Amino acid sequence: MNADLSAVRAEPGVAKPDPLLVLDGVTRSFGGLTAVRVDHLEVQRGTITALIGPNGAGKSTLFNVVSGFDRADSGSWTFDGRPVQGRRAHQVARLGMVRTFQLTRTLARLTVLENVLLAAGGQRGERLLPALLPPLWRPQERARTRRADELLERFRLTRLRDELAGTLSGGQRKLLEMARALMADPVLLLLDEPMAGVNPALTQSLLGHVTRLRDEGMTVCFVEHDMDVVMGISDWVAVMADGRLVAEGPPATIGRNPAVVDAYLGRRHDEPPDPREGPSPGSPDDVPPGPPEGDRP
Ligand code: ADP
Ligand code: MG
Repeated sequence: MNADLSAVRAEPGVAKPDPLLVLDGVTRSFGGLTAVRVDHLEVQRGTITALIGPNGAGKSTLFNVVSGFDRADSGSWTFDGRPVQGRRAHQVARLGMVRTFQLTRTLARLTVLENVLLAAGGQRGERLLPALLPPLWRPQERARTRRADELLERFRLTRLRDELAGTLSGGQRKLLEMARALMADPVLLLLDEPMAGVNPALTQSLLGHVTRLRDEGMTVCFVEHDMDVVMGISDWVAVMADGRLVAEGPPATIGRNPAVVDAYLGRRHDEPPDPREGPSPGSPDDVPPGPPEGDRP
């Protein structure tokens, strides 16, 4: 299934046998700062690819750009062979590339179910809501509700179905965000720090979900700081620093790469939080009841 990466050389920009996403010369600057400058990157279909690198490396910006939430200054990229640069997020999502955010974007004043239902409505937001309420339900909407309920079941959120999303713990919001993303039936799922602020038990469950999605044929690319997680579930690891792709390869190879270890991996536990990001991994109000994060190896 992880259609064979074993013959692929571990070097930045290397070609893959069956790439789903291909980036060329993608740059994005903010004032004088070039946040992203990726010459070439291919994401292999049917794999879990981890995107790692220190805070500020440009990982979230790269996700924003390719998923249509931000504009590139230059470059081109194709998704499943189709050029997608210049398309907006909802158009990209319709093609099958869906992302989640480092800070979850659940709507606190809607219920858990409504959050999932609205995700399928793309960017139309709350205006869709009246149409979802009985007795105006049409068969199509009943089918969507069924799908939403399946996803809530999958992520064990069924008992919270009618609670306001604002009452969920940080970890539960991460699960809800995954459910929302899956409502769009993605081919490629981009997860920005899906485990950040999630307690160890829920992390295990999230990892199980991600692996299962891959095993069902989905392609997953995720940003993660915890190297145990990265080594545990990735088929391939791409490393960014200063906006560039500086290394890529199988997890074992990346884990042995001294430059990567010294420069990037060693910093993972003591990086200062990025103030733009709000709560960072392990921030107390984002951790649902359970063993403290500090217990992790
Ligand atoms: P990462 O996700 O790898 O931590 P980001 O993509 O969030 O990194 O940020 C890369 C760089 O771009 C950082 O220096 C960050 O401060 C800067 N940056 C990101 N978004 C913006 C923005 N909207 N305006 C200005 N600078 C930004
Ligand atoms: Mg980020």
